[in-house]
Amino acid sequence: MELTHNRYQIDGMDVIELIAKYGTPVYIYETSRMKQQYEKMLHAFRDVHLKVHFACKALTNINVLKFFRKTGSGLDAVSIQEVQLGLEAGFDPKDIIFTPNCVSIDEIMEGAVLGVKINIDNISVLEQFGHMNGNNVPVGIRINPHIMAGGHDKISTGHIDSKFGISIYQMPHVHRIVETTGIRVEGLHMHTGSDILDVDVFLRGAEIMFDVAASFPDLEYVDFGSGFKVPYKPDDYFTDIEALGKDLTKRFKKFCREYGRDLTLVFEPGKFLVSEAGTFFARVNVIKQTLSTVFAGLNTGLNHFIRPMFYDAHHQIINVSNPKGRMRIYTVVGYICETDTFGWDRTISDIREGDYLAFLNAGAYCYTMASNYNSRLRPPEVLIHEGKDYLIRERESFDDLLKNQIMIDL
Ligand SMILES: *Cc1c(COP(=O)(O)O)cnc(C)c1O
Repeated sequence: MELTHNRYQIDGMDVIELIAKYGTPVYIYETSRMKQQYEKMLHAFRDVHLKVHFACKALTNINVLKFFRKTGSGLDAVSIQEVQLGLEAGFDPKDIIFTPNCVSIDEIMEGAVLGVKINIDNISVLEQFGHMNGNNVPVGIRINPHIMAGGHDKISTGHIDSKFGISIYQMPHVHRIVETTGIRVEGLHMHTGSDILDVDVFLRGAEIMFDVAASFPDLEYVDFGSGFKVPYKPDDYFTDIEALGKDLTKRFKKFCREYGRDLTLVFEPGKFLVSEAGTFFARVNVIKQTLSTVFAGLNTGLNHFIRPMFYDAHHQIINVSNPKGRMRIYTVVGYICETDTFGWDRTISDIREGDYLAFLNAGAYCYTMASNYNSRLRPPEVLIHEGKDYLIRERESFDDLLKNQIMIDL
């Protein structure tokens, strides 16, 4: 979002006009920003054979999937339904990596039948899959390198207590299964969590990967997952993708030389590609002065936008109705009958009832985590693409609340 002549704009389109057209609450995404992020990755890893797979759990609207397919990206899917959405969006099955955890062998077989790349994160599943398919269906293996990434428990997935991946200490067992069943391991994968704080942590994980990779002779790709951090506030830390590209490229090339073949380097970013490409807008229903603070109460809540409550995520809040007002301190809250606080003690341009607030970084893990809690309707999604705005998901209606309910005679 940019401020031009005292009006906020998204990719050149007037925000207040978009709000008038689509109402609030509303999610608005811009493909130009997604493209920019995608190209940053390509540029950072220009000297290796790179394949980016958009982790679609961050934002699963079918149009966003189609957009990423058109840019040349693959897809990372964590459920068979995401796989199906990917196919619906036109992805070649070979460009979809299916990376579920704790799902049944049946679901994994469904993926195999559809022809997508299977990534296995459990010894018992590997064994069953190997016995069922032998060397007919190659697999990737998700390893757990036991490194900590980020400081937040809910988004660290590589450490010792994590449910994700097969421990590097269990590789002898993996090799026995590979030998017994004849299964071909074509990829190794790790995803250490959604907040890589520095390039060094990443490179430490990479060393462990290369160590493990050397003992698998049939590899086609090495998949470093994601966890790239994007800035959520003005002076926030973010992953320096150029620096990571430089260091990892060097290390990866050395590995490929030793391995004897050029492999594909894979990443599966979600947040990095779409977080900053989305903005969420809501209206201020009430201003409520209490003894301790001034609350701004919105026409939305944790049902539409749960990251602040679920992860303590900081999302910058801007009063788009009053760009040049006096800065004051507010606590911004939702209308749900829970404590759904979007932000405490935020300095925001003077808020009046009826004003519209924007939440930045609302592209990743926002709409996809929305619910109908309190029997509220989920908001619409709008896409700005090449200078035009498109409604890409309707606001729900009351009928949607009753759609799957079966009224019985009581
Ligand atoms: C969630 C997820 C990602 C994407 O993580 P981000 O932090 O959004 O980039 C990538 N790979 C797997 C397997 C995931 O589960």
